[in-house]
This record gives sequence, structure tokens and C-alpha cells, in this order.
Amino acid sequence: MLDLTRLKDSLKTSDKMPLVFLGHGSPMNAIEDNPYAKSWAALGQNLPRPQAILVVSAHWMTRGTTLVSVNAKPETIHDFYGFPPELHAMQYPAPGAPEMAREVVTMLASHHAEEDETWGLDHGAWSVLASMYPEADVPVFQLSIDMSADLPHHLEIGRALADLRHRGVLILGSGNVVHNLRAMRFGGKPYDWAIEFDAYFADRLSNRDHKAIANRAQLGGLLQMAHPSLDHYLPALTIAGASDARDRLIYMNDSIDIASVSMRSFVYY
Ligand code: ZN
Repeated sequence: MLDLTRLKDSLKTSDKMPLVFLGHGSPMNAIEDNPYAKSWAALGQNLPRPQAILVVSAHWMTRGTTLVSVNAKPETIHDFYGFPPELHAMQYPAPGAPEMAREVVTMLASHHAEEDETWGLDHGAWSVLASMYPEADVPVFQLSIDMSADLPHHLEIGRALADLRHRGVLILGSGNVVHNLRAMRFGGKPYDWAIEFDAYFADRLSNRDHKAIANRAQLGGLLQMAHPSLDHYLPALTIAGASDARDRLIYMNDSIDIASVSMRSFVYY
């Protein structure tokens, strides 16, 4: 488990922003005072203060294009059903970062990037940011995931974004390393395949073997079990892609919820 207080100084003195991937799990984590929410709050307090946050969320899916939100006042999107009224009423009024967003469109020009003015902040973004930055005073903009592109593309997107780290931008991936809601069991023991995929991912990530985590053929049936749909996996690849060999890698929240959702999170710094 991550000891943030011990790492605080090294996180704060780095000349480039850390990279963060958070397993967000249930939207309820936004309003419950549980260990996940607490860890996100501690992370927010210990990271260098960003100029802006670019969120790559599992919940903004596009096909054939990568959209960048240039919205100056992104609305809080409640993209879920059947949760308590207080969650549906939750607001996260952080400003957007239109100028930086337009630069990101340029940085991703060869990756079919386009400006978007309609998307606000989906719960992949605000459910974790509400704990990390409760004042909602850091500008936030989102990047969509191109569901028609294969896994290595999402590593490349990260590589193309890496320079933002030198400009005070925190790149935050929000998804889950294992995410199979069809198989979920409340209070259930984690499935063997969930444990296996989660451990394999962490092992390969720790070895900077990005080819392995983006090799659909090699991941095979295990990937299909862990991710019947790839949306929650792709942001993790983008964060890995933005890292470099000098980064240190630490994990947090390495547990499996409802038997089939890994909450494993990681920070490069
Ligand atoms: Zn989600």
C-alpha cells in the first residue's frame, strides 16, 4: 500500500507532473466516506498542485475520433441510473481549460483528434475528483477514448500527451484494471480470472512491458473475461503510454470489489 506521507516530498519536488490512473468502481464512491475516497483525498493533498487536469475517462467513448473537451464551463453529467438522489444531485463545478484543450487537439493532430463543446464532466472524472480536489478549483478537461482503435493506439495517445507533464498538467486516467459487471457478485470472493488478469497486468506494468498489456491476441480469453467491453481498460493504457523509463511506479487500492472489478490504481512520478 502506498505511503503517501513518505512520498510527499519526492512527489512535490519533481520537475514533471506525476501520472495517475484510478480505479473508480461504483459512482457511490463519490459520496461514501470509504477507503477509496479517503485514498483519493490523500492523493490530491500530496500531489504537486496541477495547473489543469486532463481526464481520460472510461465513460466518454467515441468511434473513429478522439475528442477533446474545449468547454469553458463543463456541466456535471449524471451518466448512471438508479442511485440515491444525492448522487444524482451532485455537482462538480470545476472550470474547463479551453486553451490547453485546443493545444491538446494540435498535439494529437495525427490521431484524429477534434474539439468538442458538448461534453461536460462524466462520473469517471467527477466521482474521483470530488475527493481529490473537493474545492473544484483546478480546471479540468476530458479526452474521449476511441473505441474503434486497437490497444496499441491508446498507448500511443499517452506517448503523444507526455509533454503535458512538463506544463503542469496532471493526466488522470479513470477506469478499472478489471471490469466485468455481468459477473459482479456483491460480497462475493474475487474470481480467479479477475485475480489473474489483475496480477498479470501489474507484473507486466512493473516491468514496463507495455507490448504485453496491449497485445490482444496474447491476452486472449483472459482479457475477454476481465473486459467484456474495453472502455474501462483503455485509460490505463494511455497512462502507461505517457510514462517513461525514469518514472517510479507505485500502486494503491490493489483490491478486487464485487468479485469482478479491480480497484488497482497506480501513480508514476
Ligand atoms: Zn465506470
